Amino acid sequence: LRKVRILGKPVNLVNMQQAVNYLREQMKKGKKQFVIAQNPEKIMKSLQDEELSSIIEKKATLLIADGVGLVVAGKILDLPPIPRVTGVGLFEEMVKVADQEGKKIFLYGAAPDVVQKAEEILQQRYPNLHVVGTQDGYEKDHEKIVRKIQQAEPDYLFVALGSPRQEKWIAKYLDQLPVQYVMGVGGTFDVLTG
Ligand code: UDP
Repeated sequence: LRKVRILGKPVNLVNMQQAVNYLREQMKKGKKQFVIAQNPEKIMKSLQDEELSSIIEKKATLLIADGVGLVVAGKILDLPPIPRVTGVGLFEEMVKVADQEGKKIFLYGAAPDVVQKAEEILQQRYPNLHVVGTQDGYEKDHEKIVRKIQQAEPDYLFVALGSPRQEKWIAKYLDQLPVQYVMGVGGTFDVLTG
């Protein structure tokens, strides 16, 4: 995968179709995927946050350019064109893939009513989609959450705790999570239900 750096921080040069194809290929090879949506705010944060910076460099398997900020920055810096792939957009594409392939998904994060509504909306959109669990983002017992996810055995896990909380949470528990795909989705459940 090609990548460029902005203020030293990496982002991959993939459009939506290439991102989805890449992720499917990697998962088929048995490689657990951890997607981070890059944006100017996260790049600024990672300049001062060693832990976030290390997660982005060493743990993420795909870094998408979420929003126009990085696209514009790339133009100003005269870098190769950076395709825009929003986090919300990739979330929706991966839910579609899950529906087509019969993969099980788990939604973690946001307020209790929001994550529940998000599940209902997805279930209406895809009647056969396997949503094997939801968990709001305000439970403090993280070991309990990990056990709940382990027991639900999802293939894809979407984590909506905001940044950098979600990236740190995923990195901390990645080895314990029996998933093929995990992604931090920020305010996506709120957007979906808003
Ligand atoms: N959130 C959460 N637990 C927390 C703090 C935040 O589940 O302890 C949720 C919040 O309800 C919202 C999301 O995380 O659904 C944060 O969205 P935001 O748009 O702020 O994140 P961003 O996309 O900017 O990273």
